[in-house]
Amino acid sequence: MQQNLEPPSVENKQQDLEPPSAGNKQQDLEPPLCDDLCAIEIILETSVTEEKPFGKTETPDSDFNVISPKPSQFRAKFFPLATDKQWNSWRWQIQNSYTNFKTLSAILDISNIEDFDFLSKSRKLPLRITPYYASLLHDKPKDYALLKTVVPSKLELVVSPGEESDPLHEESMCPVNNLVRRYPDRVLMLSTGFCSVYCRYCTRSHMVLKDKKHYGVKAWENSIDYIRNNPQIRDVVISGGDPLTMPEKHVEFLLSSLRAMPHVEVIRLGTKVPMVLPQRITKTFVNMLKKYHPVYMSIHCTHPDEITPEVVEATKRLADAGVVMGSQTVLLQGVNDNVETIKELMHRLLKVRIKPYYLYQCDPIPGSSHFRTPVSKGLEIIQGLRGHTSGYAIPHYVIDTPGGGGKIPLLPEYYQGRDGEYVVMKNFEGKIYKYYDPIK
Ligand code: SF4
Repeated sequence: MQQNLEPPSVENKQQDLEPPSAGNKQQDLEPPLCDDLCAIEIILETSVTEEKPFGKTETPDSDFNVISPKPSQFRAKFFPLATDKQWNSWRWQIQNSYTNFKTLSAILDISNIEDFDFLSKSRKLPLRITPYYASLLHDKPKDYALLKTVVPSKLELVVSPGEESDPLHEESMCPVNNLVRRYPDRVLMLSTGFCSVYCRYCTRSHMVLKDKKHYGVKAWENSIDYIRNNPQIRDVVISGGDPLTMPEKHVEFLLSSLRAMPHVEVIRLGTKVPMVLPQRITKTFVNMLKKYHPVYMSIHCTHPDEITPEVVEATKRLADAGVVMGSQTVLLQGVNDNVETIKELMHRLLKVRIKPYYLYQCDPIPGSSHFRTPVSKGLEIIQGLRGHTSGYAIPHYVIDTPGGGGKIPLLPEYYQGRDGEYVVMKNFEGKIYKYYDPIK
């Protein structure tokens, strides 16, 4: 291996974390993360068995310093004892996340969710929302777009034809555990099964359903050895789960291991953290990333309301550190399925130096039919963008094909066929034009 990590801290192991109190109580626990991450069990909805002061070594990491008015008001109401430093600490945010209906009902009107018990026992995907992201949902109507993406619904229990737990058949494309090789020159490394929020439409819901652990160094070693022994691999995506929920030294372990291989040209991090836990983007973290360029980041963004002052700061830090950012957005019914919302999102992303990259048709995981739009809706949105805004603002609309066929881009019918020696095309206004293109 490239690098030895410090031994796991005994005191960090086996922490039982309590869900956040809707009242005043703040947790000052070490994060649920250590070196031998396989050994960690984050037991939710149980009482705290061991309380520790916030580790001194962690406080210098909390150099995030933006709290906008809405999160600030939310903190004053629901976490009045939390200091700026705590609120701005990504570890504090993870430890104080909302993980059950009882605590969530104190901050949101979830009265339209009948039969909590049934839903709690039946649902496959865990509930987890950071206090920061919860502050964006508080006081919003039940059908608020961002709320629908992270708050469980009974509709998740409706399984429809064509849905399956691993629709992309990634498990059948793993030469070693947690490493997906769908294409010859690039691989997807599944580094963790933990996320700071759980999106209700998650393609990898089968992986993140335990909400309990990072995979750990031992599991990563197999993937790293495989990449080292396969020099045709030039591009590695580190995803999960969400790799940015891991401590710096673990992310650095992966980056340094990969960067030590001359054939690995590009490293990409797939994450939603900058949108839901912007406090994670500390100066320490971005300074670490700088050492391993070129580092790309594919950021999962859903809606223009996610681009808050906190996110502006986080993305500024990443862009200034030379991280090349692209967006990944899932097209979701009742959330972002119209031209205006997607256009506004893409414009805001460009302003924070994230290049719109993919607009995904929602994958058919079990219980996701209420999120899926007809494919014609995606085409309509692309048609509503092309020619009506700058090309930089237009993502590729793709279907990640069920069964493992990879991403297939879909375009409205601009190409109309041939007329003798001419190619016939339709422009964004629906007018027909011809291009001389003799057949040789
Ligand atoms: S952040 Fe990504 S991996 Fe995690 S739940 Fe959302 S879509 Fe799934």
